[in-house]
Amino acid sequence: MPQRDGRTAPVTGLRDRAADASAAVPMRRTLRAPIGCTGVGLHSGARISLRFLPAAPASGIVFRRTDLPGGPVEIPARWDHVVDTRLNTTLGIPGRRDAVIGTVEHVLAALAGMAVDDAVVELDGPEAPVMDGSAAPFVFLIECAGLVATGEPRQVIEVLRPVRVQESRAGESRPGESGAGEGDAFVALLPAASAGPVIEAEIDFPAAAVRRQMRSLRLTPASFKADLAAARTFGFVEDVEALRAAGLARGGSLKNAVVVAGARVLNEGGLRFADEFVRHKMLDIVGDLGLAGLPLAARVVARRPGHRLNNQVLRALFADPAAFRIVPATGIGVAKRAGAGGIASAAAAPA
Ligand SMILES: [Zn+2]
Repeated sequence: MPQRDGRTAPVTGLRDRAADASAAVPMRRTLRAPIGCTGVGLHSGARISLRFLPAAPASGIVFRRTDLPGGPVEIPARWDHVVDTRLNTTLGIPGRRDAVIGTVEHVLAALAGMAVDDAVVELDGPEAPVMDGSAAPFVFLIECAGLVATGEPRQVIEVLRPVRVQESRAGESRPGESGAGEGDAFVALLPAASAGPVIEAEIDFPAAAVRRQMRSLRLTPASFKADLAAARTFGFVEDVEALRAAGLARGGSLKNAVVVAGARVLNEGGLRFADEFVRHKMLDIVGDLGLAGLPLAARVVARRPGHRLNNQVLRALFADPAAFRIVPATGIGVAKRAGAGGIASAAAAPA
């Protein structure tokens, strides 16, 4: 456990039982040492290097592009820096068209999922490398680097009343993973009794290999690593041509995405989980909601979610100062709330 003088106190890796009981991550954490990898950008097809660097206490997650003329540009990993959610979550700086970083959600999922509060993510290209299409390679890097407590107490955003965003997708066809199937879609944040979020997600795609999948998970570093981190991004074979024609998915292949053709999964090794698709959507939720800036103490209920809705629900939350408060991580769960419902009650919650 973190020592009182904090900054260099080892957090005994990610097998630490206390750290796994997410509510009991009482101090902010950063990486013990820099670590990195190189891979292909899913949409640009460019070869990109990523480095995770330790960061100052309470500095949050900051992306840094090192390849732009005029020197490095830093973009805070925050919901109000999201500039595009069509095929992935892209961060940017208003007024600087070149200062964007795409496909940040799987990197953010690894950081949020493993309870890393402060880090710099350095990139020498326009998007994070896709690696195998999951968050597992980033979790591996974080574990290899190790984590240390920064000495700064951890705070969380406690959701006090339901916040819900929705969109009607009837008849709308959107290519790739960001398309969430047909019909109504919503993401809701509900008050929860514990510090770590509980995520309940449902997807429903026409493809027979996917169809309707539901899963719920209490998010801790251990559950994230075991149940979500390895779930890969996915796409449908009929969308691949359209994406390529639009100059997208140039780095996409069966090495970094599950590709579905009706009832078939085209990847040679098949799926990593029978319900890998809904698990990946939950991974995306962890990453996109990581842009809140602090961990969310909330029950997250999502039906046919996508990057846009994931960002919209944060915008709705922060637009309503009465919907949340910032409290120490250790202060959650004292006053327990009724937690009845699930997908049905969230569907009925006020918009
Ligand atoms: Zn994803």
